[in-house]
Amino acid sequence: VRILGIEGTAWAASAAVFDAERDDVFIESDAYQPESGGIHPREAAEHMHDAIPRVVERALEYARETHDGPATDPPIDAVAFSRGPGLGPCLRVVGTAARALSQALGVPLVGVNHMVAHLEIGRHTSGFDSPVCLNASGANAHLLAYRNGRYRVLGETMDTGVGNAIDKFTRHVGWSHPGGPKVEAAAEDGEYVDLPYVVKGMDFSFSGIMSAAKQAYDGVSASNASGGSSDERSESDGSVPIEDICYSLQENVFGMLTEVSERALSLTGSDELVLGGGVGQNARLREMLAEMCAQRGAEFHAPEPRFLRDNAGMIAVLGAKMYAAGDTLEIEESRVDPDFRPDQVPVTWRARSER
Ligand code: ATP
Repeated sequence: VRILGIEGTAWAASAAVFDAERDDVFIESDAYQPESGGIHPREAAEHMHDAIPRVVERALEYARETHDGPATDPPIDAVAFSRGPGLGPCLRVVGTAARALSQALGVPLVGVNHMVAHLEIGRHTSGFDSPVCLNASGANAHLLAYRNGRYRVLGETMDTGVGNAIDKFTRHVGWSHPGGPKVEAAAEDGEYVDLPYVVKGMDFSFSGIMSAAKQAYDGVSASNASGGSSDERSESDGSVPIEDICYSLQENVFGMLTEVSERALSLTGSDELVLGGGVGQNARLREMLAEMCAQRGAEFHAPEPRFLRDNAGMIAVLGAKMYAAGDTLEIEESRVDPDFRPDQVPVTWRARSER
């Protein structure tokens, strides 16, 4: 089975070819880089418009070059695309491209949930059977585990996604998007300063820590930052060094994610954890998760970086499983869904005995 995957939920215009027999994944991506600030949905959609045809053409070229069937056969068996969650204007471009290709090549269409794809790529590359998954991405942060035919959300952010929270802080200090790698680099020279740490049961919140981090950078002490006009605020002893803020942000934010991941392992009785999402490229987060797993005798797996950040490889890999299970879409029912939650997806591709 060979599947063409197309991804375009936010910033990455990406196309991939997954050859299941050879377990070979080819990915061609083109990232949108905002000139200033964060991701602007309209600009991101314009980027999709420009870049999707290009990356798809490159992936198809690869599919044709490596295809050993009759030249008259389509070089792929199905087209899989990211249906959501994501930015509506971007998703619509990708949905249109996927429908057009499926019709032009005469192959079925597969609609993939982007967050379930972040999980399934970890399951695929680890070979784990039924792991808990921590999805630490830009717009999301949650723990997933399989039970009775669905991936259940065991815990999640009560406000923003983890990467978006970090990016908001770096925008505040004037660093270009994306902020995560810059925080990681600055944290290397930092020391711990006190910042909020908010875990409530299985859920966590990032808004308090991000406000406190901005205030620490501005040199506004937390006690008088909330009340009064800016004129009335008194300056604290001065701005906290940015390295210390970055270090402490990482310690607390990743500590929160690690604590809830441990609780999810304990709740499910699973001894396998996989990581998903762009923030998963962070070495400190991986170190904390690996240590926690080692302490409880669990196995930890983080896919290689090209599968962590948004990419069409994970869409093609899950697309292949769905295609093999007959889980395809008619054009009329292939609408995209910006709020598509992972627990809305009936898991058709796992062994019937598990379901
Ligand atoms: P989603 O998958 O929820 O739609 P997304 O589309 O924003 O999220 P991802 O590629 O999963 O995209 O993640 C992008 C995020 O990862 C950005 O917020 C970026 O700052 C963050 N990030 C990238 N590298 C690192 C790193 N080394 N450390 C921390 N964060 C990082």
